[in-house]
Amino acid sequence: MQTNDLLIQRVRLYIFEHFLKHAQPPVCEQLMNEFSISRDEAMEILRELESARHIALVQGTARILMAFPFSAIATPFRVTARGQAYFANCAWDAVAFHAMLRDDVRVDSFCHHCGTPITIELRDGRATRVEPAETLVYLALRPTQWWENIVTTCSNTMVFFASPQHRDASDLCAPTDQAASLTPDQVHALSGPIYSRKLELDYARPTREKLLDHFAAMGLTGDYWKI
Ligand SMILES: [Zn+2]
Repeated sequence: MQTNDLLIQRVRLYIFEHFLKHAQPPVCEQLMNEFSISRDEAMEILRELESARHIALVQGTARILMAFPFSAIATPFRVTARGQAYFANCAWDAVAFHAMLRDDVRVDSFCHHCGTPITIELRDGRATRVEPAETLVYLALRPTQWWENIVTTCSNTMVFFASPQHRDASDLCAPTDQAASLTPDQVHALSGPIYSRKLELDYARPTREKLLDHFAAMGLTGDYWKI
């Protein structure tokens, strides 16, 4: 492995561990000091991490906005775990905290349609509390569209609805073959290969082939899931 690749891995892990400890991302100057690198080098590494889909920056800046599942700004997806409160980027990311931490997680969010509070608790690999009981995670874009602009995808199109009726009444509701409705348990299962090793140094996002295998193993085989 190139020294540079190892440095990129170390910076990635530092960002995630900083988020986990402080519920905020580190700033560019912290990376410069922690790793004895210049601003240009820090910026290059941040751009590498962004293109590898580990983080998203505030456009045109060195500021970390997202390190999936963590959000640097307030969102409707509040997560509590290990006595710390976090914001997740979207409904999927909120549930995915459980796959990442393998620890008890509580999600406090809202129905995207009417704003009614939603609470989900996850423990030992499953949702042990879902209120309201019909709560679903709605993915309003196809997977092939997610990374066209991941900031707007996360922020606007991966949400909770309190029930299928509230999904159908929402402006976000898309034709059924172009969107997905999942239970919290399904989203947890979906998250495993993507999130479970995020806090390890050599984490890499699963390949397209591995993701397709995982979708198929979950029975997610329709046209929607072709990536
Ligand atoms: Zn609602």
